[in-house]
Amino acid sequence: MDYYSSQISNLIEELSSLPGIGSKSAQRLAFHILNMPIEHVEKLSSVIVEARKKVRYCQSCFTLTDDELCPICKNAGRNHKMIMVVENTRDLAAYEKTNKYEGVYHVLHGAISPMLGIGPNDIRLKELMQRLQEDVDEVIIATNSSLEGETTAMYISKLIKPTGIKVSRIASGVPVGGDLEYIDEMTLLRALEGRTEL
Ligand code: ZN
Repeated sequence: MDYYSSQISNLIEELSSLPGIGSKSAQRLAFHILNMPIEHVEKLSSVIVEARKKVRYCQSCFTLTDDELCPICKNAGRNHKMIMVVENTRDLAAYEKTNKYEGVYHVLHGAISPMLGIGPNDIRLKELMQRLQEDVDEVIIATNSSLEGETTAMYISKLIKPTGIKVSRIASGVPVGGDLEYIDEMTLLRALEGRTEL
């Protein structure tokens, strides 16, 4: 990228390191930013820095939040005896959008993948098992229907079974290999309602 000044090249390079941003998009974004009013650019960069500094894991469900407990865990109106296990915060958001799920969540931050060398200790499984020492009626496993998601679901159900807590898996209305965050709300609801006990 010799035809751009080094400042512009740096900006393009940083932007293209973000997921889903190819070099064309990075160039488009870079020139868009360069044409924005300086106050707007300052606001954008400070919002990014502040979010990165303040956002942390909820002490209970491990979703990303900016307080000790996330708004869902803090909410006494939710059913704290029902825990839905998801792979990431985006999947949690997908189920929240349906407005129909009244339980709480547990965010694993990944899935077991022997291929990628991700084992049970690399995701928030220990923390889930600790939560189950409290009064819990049901654990709904809502990991993706990918190989990793299924492997994780099976592993978790085997861990939980001996505790006597009901374990269920969302129905396969979710297409195989499908990422939860891209699936429409109706499909998610059907998957939740049609869950089967493991
Ligand atoms: Zn939480």
